[in-house]
Amino acid sequence: MPRNIQAAYKKETRSPDGRPGKNYWQNRGRYTITIDAMPPDRNIKGSEQITYINNSPDTLKNTVIKLFINIHRPGAPRLRTANPDYLTEGMHIDAVAVNGQPQKWRELPYFSTWQPFKLPQPLLPHDSVKLSFDWHYQISLESGREGMIDSTTYFLAYFYPRIAVYDDYNGWDRMNFTDLQEFYSDFNDYTVTINAPKNYIVWGTGTLQHPETLLQPAIAQRFAASFTSDQTIRIATKEELAAKKVTAPNAVNSWQFKASNIPDMAFGLSDHFDWDAASVLVDDATHRRASVQAAYNDTAADYHHMVQFGRHALDWLSHNWPGIPYPYEKTTIFQGYAGMEYPMMANDETYADTTFSRFVAEHEIAHTYMPFYMGINETRYGFMDEGWATTFELLIGRADMGTEKAEEAYREFRVNDWTYDNSPDEDIPIITPGDAQATQGLGNNEYGKPSLGYLAVKDLLGDELFKKCLHTYMDRWHGKHPNPWDFFYSFNDASGKNLNWFWTNWFISNNYIDLAIDKVEENPGKGATAYIRNIGGLAIPFNLLIHYSDGSSETLHQTPSIWSSDQKNASVAIPGASGKKIQSIELKGGIYVDADASNNKWAAK
Ligand SMILES: [Zn+2]
Repeated sequence: MPRNIQAAYKKETRSPDGRPGKNYWQNRGRYTITIDAMPPDRNIKGSEQITYINNSPDTLKNTVIKLFINIHRPGAPRLRTANPDYLTEGMHIDAVAVNGQPQKWRELPYFSTWQPFKLPQPLLPHDSVKLSFDWHYQISLESGREGMIDSTTYFLAYFYPRIAVYDDYNGWDRMNFTDLQEFYSDFNDYTVTINAPKNYIVWGTGTLQHPETLLQPAIAQRFAASFTSDQTIRIATKEELAAKKVTAPNAVNSWQFKASNIPDMAFGLSDHFDWDAASVLVDDATHRRASVQAAYNDTAADYHHMVQFGRHALDWLSHNWPGIPYPYEKTTIFQGYAGMEYPMMANDETYADTTFSRFVAEHEIAHTYMPFYMGINETRYGFMDEGWATTFELLIGRADMGTEKAEEAYREFRVNDWTYDNSPDEDIPIITPGDAQATQGLGNNEYGKPSLGYLAVKDLLGDELFKKCLHTYMDRWHGKHPNPWDFFYSFNDASGKNLNWFWTNWFISNNYIDLAIDKVEENPGKGATAYIRNIGGLAIPFNLLIHYSDGSSETLHQTPSIWSSDQKNASVAIPGASGKKIQSIELKGGIYVDADASNNKWAAK
């Protein structure tokens, strides 16, 4: 356990039973933002008021302001290349004030996507401060996680200046956004108004205020009907937009969205995207439905199915895994280039393979739970976010296309690149902070490896106990900021088992997957014993497939608990061999792809 986490337990902000500690706190903000987005003008202008509430026991003399959009500046530290069309001047802060008093904005040249900002008066514990910013930036021609989708379609995300997270185990989050590690956000309340030209629709996170004043009556009626409709309703088409039949005929329409206790807001706007919507029951106890919307270019054939893909994802995730009612009022899948999640929004590419479009939508929507509902620090511990989305993606995939196909895709897409790459960075511990990793190993540490670990603990505990543990962790920490030890300890507590050996084995080691059948001892009349050596060290579940000389066979499943006392060697009793002769034995890992499968077979001589 790193020293900063040890200190949090000492301060009792976190508890060794996995609960938030008696001294747990987190800061929050209230953001009111007015934005002008007037395509084809590429300038996005904002005026923003923040009330920041310091719930910490610390006096804050400085703040840290995140300016993610500066990733577009030439010279910004990036873990990816940037094409000329991606580059802009980044964020311009035109004015800043604290409690109504104008302040000087100074940028230090050695920081990029964040800047320190000194408060004129220290912010005392349990006090609040009002900051305001006027800003503008030019939206980039090339769209990544945000940017221009086409000349009159914009996607706005991570764009407004915000106060970084100040937390109990790390202090100010000063991590640079390098276009690879993702985000870490406070749970804030937002009122965001987007001023857009007439004939533009704006989609976004949160409750759209007074749609009847923004939409023409027929369109507003269809929109209202979608909240109780299972069937996809075409709310607006590109033809209707072209005929100016969709939005209120004002020169500028002000689209206001509100959301509370949410880590971020994202928006899309277009003058020609189709708009579909329906809704789905997500909470059986309260009969709550959630809206599912799609915004897309009519030429994207897969997107014509997107609302139903989204309905299926919300339904399945709410009722199966994680089996917690979808916690938001809606989701919107917006056609872009990112394959990226935002609260209540996904920005997904169009694909010729409609099955893959559904797969990507399911993955991004699964992120609703982690990172957003759970307040995960994605930048440092991306495995607490992507690892779960990858796990839910496999579980829903098994339901969608059957176990065999789903597992084949999972091996191909999430496991093989790790297992068959013996570069040293591939076997760095999963727990390694995201900013200390940079290469292919980072991706595997965030997606495939932790997902296999979560599925291994599911195998170890069985579905019922695993779900109890998962729900315990999620009930305790949703709306908060859990770190990996809060997850480990919540599972220990809820399962009544000390699984520290397992967490260490999977998340804090250099282990990889390689088992071998060492030898088989046969005791005629008594059965046989297979001796398994764990060369790679990871505590994986596996099957032994026994072929008998009479032509029969049997499968003996071993959960990872077989490695609980000795993580290098294990033995499996084969009682079926008492009356029969073994011809051969195969060790099958399934999704746990073995780096050296040549030693996974044994044959009688
Ligand atoms: Zn993801």
